[in-house]
Amino acid sequence: MSDVSSEIEKYIALESSTVDDQVMQAECECCGLKEDCTKGYITIVKSCHCGKWVCGLCSEAVKERLYRAPKTAIQDAVSFHREFCQKFNSTIRLNPKLSLACAMRDIAKRSHEYRSSKNLSAPKIDRSTSCVPKIDFKH
Ligand SMILES: [Zn+2]
Repeated sequence: MSDVSSEIEKYIALESSTVDDQVMQAECECCGLKEDCTKGYITIVKSCHCGKWVCGLCSEAVKERLYRAPKTAIQDAVSFHREFCQKFNSTIRLNPKLSLACAMRDIAKRSHEYRSSKNLSAPKIDRSTSCVPKIDFKH
């Protein structure tokens, strides 16, 4: 009887070890990055992030979030970073030209403000057109 049960245990151990070595595709809960990982690794990562699999970069960001705000629960840190990634994906990644234009417009605006505050005493130059460079989307 005991021999049989130990045989079964051995079999189960063998079975689970081969399952752990099985390479699976894991998808990052935050940025959607797909990575091939062993099942064992996926399980470890998931258990560290409340059952959610996150890629290496995102887990670093989650860790940093926890470091900055130690009272944050791990699942809150994960969902905070997921929201950040989704925002990033819906703006910068889908429309890099648009966000680049926005960023450049901001920089142009700021440098214009900086220049105008610096040149307060200088004689005013009348300008009929805006100095903000126009960005041609056709290129
Ligand atoms: Zn990720």
